[in-house]
Amino acid sequence: LNVGFLINQAIGYSRDFPFDIAQIHIPPDLDLLSLTGTARFTRTPQGLLAQIKMQAHVESECVRCLNHTVSPLVVDFSELYAFSKKTASETGLLLPENGYILLEPLLREYMLLELPINPLCRPNCQGLCPVCGADLNEHACEHNEQPIDDRLAVLKSLKRESKE
Ligand SMILES: [Zn+2]
Ligand SMILES: [Zn+2]
Repeated sequence: LNVGFLINQAIGYSRDFPFDIAQIHIPPDLDLLSLTGTARFTRTPQGLLAQIKMQAHVESECVRCLNHTVSPLVVDFSELYAFSKKTASETGLLLPENGYILLEPLLREYMLLELPINPLCRPNCQGLCPVCGADLNEHACEHNEQPIDDRLAVLKSLKRESKE
């Protein structure tokens, strides 16, 4: 992003940069789909204030059934690209002298914070049968009684604990 021209604008001047990217790889490890949103840069006395509102999708594997799943990510943050170290915020971001900002590393950091730790293909995913590996979302298998028994056993032990 070339934001250098904003330096010569009046304080309070801002410019929106819309994003609409079907697929993007952010080195070293982040692949995003349908990245959309806006980066707004505003000239302030201290530097250029970036206000980023973006959403994207990330591909992952459901932790229960291992099926391919796509999770939404939403980020909304502000960072100051300061003119000098004196006015820098605690993140210490400085506006490069050539006025070109590489937004990807910052975006990556915030997107990684939003990554689901335990992605699920659906909230009530039944997972795989621990015995035969059948996808229990698609069809029940003969071992399917087992998990229900387990759940009952847990309930019973909970009841026992609450009595004690
Ligand atoms: Zn699943
Ligand atoms: Zn089974």
